[in-house]
Amino acid sequence: MSDYAFDQRLGDVQPFSLAGGRVIGVWLFVSLLGLVIAAASLWFNQRDVSQRSAAAALAFVEARLDALDGELAQLANEASEDFSFGVCPPTLTALLVRASVRSMLAQQFAVGYRGVNSACGPEGVIAMTLPAQQLNMSLSLNRADEPDAPIMASRNDSASRVQIAALDARAFSDLIEGVRRTLGTSSTDVRVLLSSKAGKRLAIFGTQESVATPPWLRTMATSGRYDVVIEVDIEPNSLQTTAWLRTLAIVLPLWLATFLCVAWAWRNTTRRGRLRNRISVGLRKRQFEPFVQPIVDFATGKCVGGEVLMRWNHPHRGIIAPGEFIEEAERSGLILGMADLVMGLAAHRLAPIAKANPEMYFSFNVTPLQLQHAGFGFRLSEIFHANTIAPHQVLLELTERDCVDAATSNALSLLKQAGWRIALDDFGTGQSSLAVLEEMQVDRIKIDRAFVSTIDTETVRRPVLDAIIALAQQLNLKLIAEGVETRSQWKYLEGRGVEYAQGYLISRPLAIPGFLKWLADQQANANGASNNRGVDAAENSVPSALSVATAAGTLDDATQQLLHNAHTPGGLDIRDRVFHLRTYRDCFVGAEAVEWIAQTQDVSREQAVVIGQRLLALGHIRHVADEHDFEDANLFYRLAPPADDSTWLLPVANDLKFAIRGAGGAEGVPLADHRRGIVCHHRSVTGAQIVDWMEATYSVPRATATQWITQLMRQGVVRHVYDDQPFRDDRTLYRVI
Ligand code: C2E
Ligand code: CA
Ligand code: CA
Repeated sequence: MSDYAFDQRLGDVQPFSLAGGRVIGVWLFVSLLGLVIAAASLWFNQRDVSQRSAAAALAFVEARLDALDGELAQLANEASEDFSFGVCPPTLTALLVRASVRSMLAQQFAVGYRGVNSACGPEGVIAMTLPAQQLNMSLSLNRADEPDAPIMASRNDSASRVQIAALDARAFSDLIEGVRRTLGTSSTDVRVLLSSKAGKRLAIFGTQESVATPPWLRTMATSGRYDVVIEVDIEPNSLQTTAWLRTLAIVLPLWLATFLCVAWAWRNTTRRGRLRNRISVGLRKRQFEPFVQPIVDFATGKCVGGEVLMRWNHPHRGIIAPGEFIEEAERSGLILGMADLVMGLAAHRLAPIAKANPEMYFSFNVTPLQLQHAGFGFRLSEIFHANTIAPHQVLLELTERDCVDAATSNALSLLKQAGWRIALDDFGTGQSSLAVLEEMQVDRIKIDRAFVSTIDTETVRRPVLDAIIALAQQLNLKLIAEGVETRSQWKYLEGRGVEYAQGYLISRPLAIPGFLKWLADQQANANGASNNRGVDAAENSVPSALSVATAAGTLDDATQQLLHNAHTPGGLDIRDRVFHLRTYRDCFVGAEAVEWIAQTQDVSREQAVVIGQRLLALGHIRHVADEHDFEDANLFYRLAPPADDSTWLLPVANDLKFAIRGAGGAEGVPLADHRRGIVCHHRSVTGAQIVDWMEATYSVPRATATQWITQLMRQGVVRHVYDDQPFRDDRTLYRVI
């Protein structure tokens, strides 16, 4: 199995997930908590509504009795005329008729004397037994034992007389509705009992049948002013819907919050946050790199330069094309840092080729955000200069759509005035007018590959391609055709006088070492093959003047000597250093290195920084956490081991990969799903286990094994699961790539 297939197999494994057991545990705990809260809330809720409903019923009854007491007091005032027993004066009966008709609470009123067996009612003398002694209250209630007998309310005034009212049944007709309103439901089975304090039943309202009421749903309320006790019985089942709804109102948000927390944790651990976060970590770790896609001359087949295209060298996923991240990078503004990083790396890595071939150019995609950023022009001149890629060899690519905006076109004009060259990218897809083209004074036009693809498909858009070509020729602008994939496309475009081609037919975008090799192969082919023109020329030839050898030897002799001297006595002060309680092994300080380079090379500090940046871009030195370019500052850097220094580790790396593949077997490295917190890292291995394996396999001391793995980590064979920890011989988790 090739390494590639091996990597693919690992790529299929989801690197980490939340530990299933723990998630279920958290979920169960929350559910249990929810149930306890629900039960408690149900209990408190029912007790609370039951008490509130009894209080409401009592308040209702007391208010009615207050009103009745008032009516009886008024009657006492009006019917002050004395009368003899058994004879009711007509004025009194007339008064009683009027009062009875007027009252909303009493069926009828009567007046009598205490201890006497008759009284005067609206229709004359009525027989009734009046209490000899009134309770110490203004109003007392009573009721005969016969069915349908009304509640009798009696009140004594200062004389020995008693005012009596037979209560109208409608006096308390709203009572049940009021109680139900308090309960918050209209469908509740509820019963209200009215009794005297002595226990005599006065009235029952609401559900008449005996309801099965557990004791906690029966609530009593005793009046402080009247001889009345109220008992409210609530049928619990009918209350439960309301209670459940209220409980759900508490529990559901809790469940939702837990769900969101788990989802958030899941998203942050398995996908390491949203794309934006991942990009920003990638930028901090300087994981964005330049690839180059060659551009060739149709007429001669010579490589005239290349377009620098960004790639994300992702620690787990390998090379990622911009389609996946460029949009979010532009939206978030992270593109500024990313483009800066890629331009800087490309400038140093392509410097030897650019220097050896001054007629070549390299184009860089630029966004309006970069253009409008104050200091972009200055930054360009910092990156591109005689020691990297000379400014005249740089082409800035902007899409037509971007040029429509006034702010962008102003920024662009300033760049033009400063001497930078501009290409109009994806031409034909925006709304360029001739005026824009003239105003912009662009140096090149790139035909979008959508138009190039019409050559083979014979669509109606092909005339547009022809028109674009004619337009560019009239304006005297050189054209680059993008996306040239077939020979027929090549021939068509060549036949119409298009100057340059870029596309898969010539080459896919290549990593810079690959680009150098491509150039070398082209040169070799050119030397061996006949120098015919056209398609064959494009496939076989390279510029004859190209000095691939110079380009491939990425460091000149002086710099190589400098690197060598760095290790020797009098070289860089390389030792372990401690910062913020953390030890960084075998490192040196940027500012000290600048001093040393400036002295040994007899250059200014600024020039020394450029040399350091070049060494970093070419991978000879690295910031300890891969988070900084080379700077004249108190930052720690390490010398990367010479390329061939660790090639002897190659068999070890292969053994380790093989052992991983045989995981589970006797000699395998024990890959497993490891849990850390609530996260489960699939197919990972602890640092101690890798050291154990190495110790056993090669019979080397633990310290040596740890050093070897540290080396393998630098080569990308061993990686920390989150890619942000150095190697440790402990429980820390790693993967073998
Ligand atoms: P673009 O500027 O139009 O770049 C050309 C794209 O076409 C590249 O896609 C290239 O790989 C692809 N291509 C070239 N020849 C062919 C071909 O023959 N057939 C097909 N099908 N495709 C071909 P890539 O590298 O994926 O880049 C996509 C876009 O991402 C670029 O489109 C550019 O807009 C953007 N981009 C790339 N690098 C950078 C960068 O450093 N900065 C900015 N701002 N944008 C970048
Ligand atoms: Ca482009
Ligand atoms: Ca393009």
